[in-house]
Amino acid sequence: MKRLEGKVAIVTGASAGIGEATARLFAQEGASVVVVARRAEVLDALVHAITKAGGEALAVAGDVGEEAFARVMVERTLARFGRLDIVINNAGILGAMGPVPDMALSDWQQVITTNLTSAFLAAKYQLPAMLASGGGSLVFMSTFVGHTAGMPGMAAYAASKAGLVGLTQVLAAEYGAQRIRVNALLPGGTDTEAAREFADTPEAQEFVAGLHALKRIAAPEEIAHAALYLASDDASFTTGSAMLVDGGVSINRV
Ligand code: NAP
Repeated sequence: MKRLEGKVAIVTGASAGIGEATARLFAQEGASVVVVARRAEVLDALVHAITKAGGEALAVAGDVGEEAFARVMVERTLARFGRLDIVINNAGILGAMGPVPDMALSDWQQVITTNLTSAFLAAKYQLPAMLASGGGSLVFMSTFVGHTAGMPGMAAYAASKAGLVGLTQVLAAEYGAQRIRVNALLPGGTDTEAAREFADTPEAQEFVAGLHALKRIAAPEEIAHAALYLASDDASFTTGSAMLVDGGVSINRV
C-alpha cells in the first residue's frame, strides 16, 4: 500500500536538492504532487520524469516570497486536483553571510522574505484549502542552525529558520482541533547545490561532515523520508514539533 495514495501535496523548492527528492518520493508513494520553484523549465522536466514513472504532477513556477504567487499556488492546485492535504514548504536560501555590522538591510530582508515571510504567506492561503479538505499536514523546512547551534555569519538565516519553529508552534495550537498537523523539520548538513556552495572545497566539506556524529552529511533522500513521515498518517500524533533529522550535528561535541 502506498503511503500517500489519494493525497494532494505541494512541495516548494522542488527544482533542486531536498525538495526535488521529496517530490519524487511523494509521487512514488501515490500523491499527486504540485512542484513549485522559480525555474519553470527545471520543474517541467521534473513533472515529465514523475509522469513517465507513472505518477501525477503539476508545475507552478514563481517566487514564494510574493503574496500573489502564494495565492496562485493554491488556486492552481485546487483547479487541477480539487483538494490539498499536504504541504512541504521547503524553498529557502542561505543568502548573504557575514557579521551583522557588515550586513546590508536588503540582504537581511531577502533572507527573511524568502525563508520566513514566505511561510506566513504560504500558511495564509494553504490553511483554508486544507480545512476545506478535512485536515492535513503542513511542514516547514527549518534547520538546526539557530535552534541547537549558533554558527558565525549566519544571523539572517538562523533568525529566519528559528522563526519557522515559532510559527509552527502557534499554527499547531490553532489548527489541531481541525485536524491539521503542523511541524518543522530540521535537517543537518545535506548534500545539495546549496550545501556545495556553502562548503566549496574538499577541506570544507570534510570539516562540515566531521561536525556530525555520523561523520557525514545526509543525502537529500534521507531528509525526504523524514518529510514523508511527517506528511503521512504514521505521524498522526505528531504536531507542533521541531523534528531534528541531523546526523547528530546538534549533540556532537568532538
Ligand atoms: P537548494 O538545493 O539550493 O534548493 C533550494 C530550492 O528552493 C530550489 O528548488 C530553489 O529553486 C528554491 N527557491 C529558492 N528561492 C526561492 C524562491 N524565492 N521562490 C521559489 N523557490 C525558491 O537547497 P536545499 O539544500 O535543498 O535546501 C532546501 C531547504 O532545506 C532550504 O529551506 C534549506 O534552508 C533547508 N536546509 C538545507 C540544509 C542543507 O544542508 N542542504 C540543511 C538544513 C536545512 P529555484 O532556484 O528554481 O527557485
